[in-house]
Amino acid sequence: MTKMLTYVWALPYTAVGLTIGTIGLCTGGHVRRCGRVVEFHGGAVKWFVTHLPHGEFTLALTLGHTILGQSAASLDIARDHELVHVRQYERWGPLFGPAYLLASLFLWCVGRSPYRENPFEREAYRQSGSEP
Ligand SMILES: [Zn+2]
Repeated sequence: MTKMLTYVWALPYTAVGLTIGTIGLCTGGHVRRCGRVVEFHGGAVKWFVTHLPHGEFTLALTLGHTILGQSAASLDIARDHELVHVRQYERWGPLFGPAYLLASLFLWCVGRSPYRENPFEREAYRQSGSEP
């Protein structure tokens, strides 16, 4: 898949990330371009990230070619892990969200960790060399 097509393929999620990031900018947040992704942090973005299921422990969240973080420091810590998720969005496109959620739902139904044992997270932790 050409680079341009990967941007189009992941665009539905990128659009959501840009929308949340723009709201963050209007509420005191910041933005920076980092390679092929746009990173947002602070303002409403921090509020959004810390209200995800893992709360204050969530450093960042990837949506397509955007990464939303609590702060600049949390983006620095989580970047390698989140860039694996960017590649997953490029591979799965609109199917990424449903595939991720179905994997989590299945794991939860069989009594396993819907986050730590999710294959998308396992790949991200393995390839980034970080620990869950
Ligand atoms: Zn992850």
